[in-house]
Amino acid sequence: MKAINPRTGETDYEFAESSRDEVAAAAARLRQRQTEWEARGPQTRAAALMRLADAVEVRQDAIAEKLSVDTGRIAVARMETLGFVGNLRRWATRGPQLFAELPQDASPSATPGVEIVPSFSAYPLFGAIAPWNFPVILSHIDAVPALMAGSAALIKPSEVTPRWVEPMLEALTAAPDVPIEYVMGGPEVGQALIEAVDYVCFTGSTATGRKVAEAAARALIPVNLELGGKDPMIVTASADAEWAARLALRSSIVATGQACQSIERIFVARNVAEPFLAALVKEAEAVQLTYPDPAQGHIGPFIFPSQADKVAAQIEEAAAAGARVLTGGKVERLGGGAWMRPTVIVDVTPDMAVMRDETFGPVLPVVVFDQIEDAITQANDTSYGLSAAVLAGSLDEATEVGSRLEAGAISLQDGALTSMVGDATNHSRKTSGLGPSRMGDEGMLRFLRRQALIRRVGDAPTIADFAEGTR
Ligand code: NAD
Repeated sequence: MKAINPRTGETDYEFAESSRDEVAAAAARLRQRQTEWEARGPQTRAAALMRLADAVEVRQDAIAEKLSVDTGRIAVARMETLGFVGNLRRWATRGPQLFAELPQDASPSATPGVEIVPSFSAYPLFGAIAPWNFPVILSHIDAVPALMAGSAALIKPSEVTPRWVEPMLEALTAAPDVPIEYVMGGPEVGQALIEAVDYVCFTGSTATGRKVAEAAARALIPVNLELGGKDPMIVTASADAEWAARLALRSSIVATGQACQSIERIFVARNVAEPFLAALVKEAEAVQLTYPDPAQGHIGPFIFPSQADKVAAQIEEAAAAGARVLTGGKVERLGGGAWMRPTVIVDVTPDMAVMRDETFGPVLPVVVFDQIEDAITQANDTSYGLSAAVLAGSLDEATEVGSRLEAGAISLQDGALTSMVGDATNHSRKTSGLGPSRMGDEGMLRFLRRQALIRRVGDAPTIADFAEGTR
């Protein structure tokens, strides 16, 4: 397979797609290793994950360098690599504590003469299928707690961003006992992985998520889906307009808007709309592309070339239907890559694709509202329910409005906080996801299967107790 460099547009990397047999062989190797991995106990597994964290940290430059070629961005690639290190250390610390908190003692059953002893064991083989937008973080975000729980991990990174895997394999040689393997390729490899594992976590688009859920249903394995979003932000009448504009901009355009939790719809109260829009446009126009110097500026190219066309089509459709683009709005072809400056659009209507479909670009459609009730109704008028945000004059007001939004996680007095907070348990709503939380303690506990040892402590009934005429 070949991968395109998002900065140059050139196809400059080749890699071998894993065959179905190779996926099955990797799964078989991992299953063999998993028995010992689980048997060694949480403390020893945590120590191994800490060693992997150290090994990744030592090689962070090599990993971030390849990741920056995959994604066309340097600073975010560095943050992402260190984010993975943090994820390993967080679970290696919290995991053993969680195991210590698990119930171990026998408890009396409601059935007389019986006690129940709980026992926990991990799903042996965990599988992850990851997208291209945060390739390292999202390939491991569920795998690390699964490893901590005692599973082995088979990971399929996105075929769009494969380069970082080579230096990551180097890091794994310094922690060779951690049972991780990567299989490379596209949809077919994803399907083969689902057939090979005992539990699958998928991060990606809602359309592909449905296919993954169907395949998991055929294999009769649990599936967790973390899918797309169309996150709303409400700016209330009491909010400071310039403060809100700064937060709205950042929450929408970090990583060129290629983040599931990006703010993609803004509802602003009429009395602050004018200064808010003025500040938003001013701040947006101060943002620089990381071109021509990749080490200068704020936002990089589109990672996946056809994504630029999708975003452009949404903006063109909205403009043709009467929306006004206040700044940005054009795909710029520079040095072979596709770029877009922060784009502010007004006079949008709920039927426009830019208000209904996931955009995944640096685009901020702004709607002015008169009544907060109306803003809440419009914010909830979406098939997605990933996350949302509220900016208000007080935390109390933001909390009151936020608690009425239909999404898994609500950022108050900031936006897109889920990208920075790993321990906020939440369940994505509507078509944004399925299954337990990847964040918080549930992130690990979901990988533990509970077995009940049901023991008889009194006299067991005999067949005589079931004889006709005895009751
Ligand atoms: P995608 O759905 O196109 O692909 C994701 C992965 O699925 C890739 O590894 C791909 O090879 C694999 N795949 C494709 N077809 C498959 C099939 N039929 N069977 C099995 N696997 C298959 O997603 P993408 O374009 O790489 O990523 C962008 C999307 O991911 C956006 O919708 C974004 O919102 C979403 N996302 C969600 C979260 C979250 O936590 N909710 C985080 C990041 C990205």
